[in-house]
Amino acid sequence: MSQIYDVIVVGAGSMGISAGYQLAKRGLRILLIDSFDPPHQQGSHHGDTRLIRHAYSGGSAYIKLALQADQLWQELEELTRTQLLVRSGVMNVTDTKRISFAERIADATRLGVKVEHLQAEEISRRWPGFRLPETSEGMYEPEAGFLFSERCIAAYRSLALAEGAELLVHTPVERILVEEDGVRVQTHYGFHYASQLIISVGAWLQTLEPFLALPVRSVRKTVGWFQTASHSFHQDVFPGFTLATEYGGFYGFPDIHGSGLKIGRHDGGKTWKPEEKLEPFGAFTDDETDLRRALESYMPRAAGGLLRGGVCKYELTPDEDFIIDRHPNHPNVLVAAGFSGHGFKFSSAVGVILADLIEKRRPDADLDEFSISRFDGIRI
Ligand SMILES: Cc1cc2nc3c(=O)[nH]c(=O)nc-3n(C[C@H](O)[C@H](O)[C@H](O)COP(=O)(O)OP(=O)(O)OC[C@H]3O[C@@H](n4cnc5c(N)ncnc54)[C@H](O)[C@@H]3O)c2cc1C
Repeated sequence: MSQIYDVIVVGAGSMGISAGYQLAKRGLRILLIDSFDPPHQQGSHHGDTRLIRHAYSGGSAYIKLALQADQLWQELEELTRTQLLVRSGVMNVTDTKRISFAERIADATRLGVKVEHLQAEEISRRWPGFRLPETSEGMYEPEAGFLFSERCIAAYRSLALAEGAELLVHTPVERILVEEDGVRVQTHYGFHYASQLIISVGAWLQTLEPFLALPVRSVRKTVGWFQTASHSFHQDVFPGFTLATEYGGFYGFPDIHGSGLKIGRHDGGKTWKPEEKLEPFGAFTDDETDLRRALESYMPRAAGGLLRGGVCKYELTPDEDFIIDRHPNHPNVLVAAGFSGHGFKFSSAVGVILADLIEKRRPDADLDEFSISRFDGIRI
């Protein structure tokens, strides 16, 4: 029998590496296994930046989790002496005919999150880069901003290894077997044994069927970095943003030292299956035109030449809430999946939740919304 670990983490990306660090810090023997060499360009965490917002819709569970996560990102910055988070502020724009921010503002304010409710004219006055229809309104979060996602993963990786965790890179897990006394995981090196297992494989969840079958759909997503014609998009003066428009929901980031303004679309995208090639940016004409249309309407001076395009993967649950739970048939297997295009900001806190669940401690988070049982009877 190979060496026995307390926990094997399958997938050392955003969620897995954070959990690996928290568990190793608590003195457990941890083996992290990844198909690539995280951070990498194949999954859901690359492309430089991820928004971190606190004033979430859907009640208090996400807001509390975002605040916990924010605290943990600050701690990670201090531990690694690396800048991971930029508090650029985030401007959420919608059309009053589409969504109202009233409920979100009320929930956020109750939980101590600073938010400002702004009308179109004031938004354009404070941030001249925006050109908004008169019927727009905004919810500005001054303490929100963005994370450097690959740096975050590299930071957790270095700390996890320093705490004694082991990491196998370029090692896809081929099979998982649950036995009476623990879990056996097969890779090209042979079998690895542990008492408990965490599954955090992002967009590759389907490859674990039938061991784990959940209604999670992987989707190809595109992002573009566009040349700006004005200093008003620079990170020192322009916020991160979300835009609810008549033709889709977009999000983006200021120009970081000449990188260009980055924009992506949250809804839509083509389904991707793990056995398929992921088409590169530009393979479809709407990869660029879709993003450019939003810029031309709402930030015309940021609709310059395309400096860079990229593709990434979402893993969507039917309700776009996460899955953080025990395997329905194997209580010693935890599942962290379906982060539905908005999970990165929470990954620091998800690592703590997973570590608490492994240690059979009650997590300081409300996990009801993230249960597997909500999908009983649902398949995709
Ligand atoms: C374009 C884009 C924009 C986004 N914007 C935001 C944002 O602004 N804010 C935000 O909070 N979130 C955002 N997200 C979502 C966020 O990045 C994801 O929710 C998060 O990264 C998912 O983490 P994960 O650990 O599930 O996946 P990943 O980080 O991809 O990790 C999964 C890991 O599992 C490994 N793996 C898979 N199969 C196996 C196997 N069989 N054996 C071993 N290893 C395996 C993979 O190699 C990978 O490293 C965005 C995502 C995309 C794609």
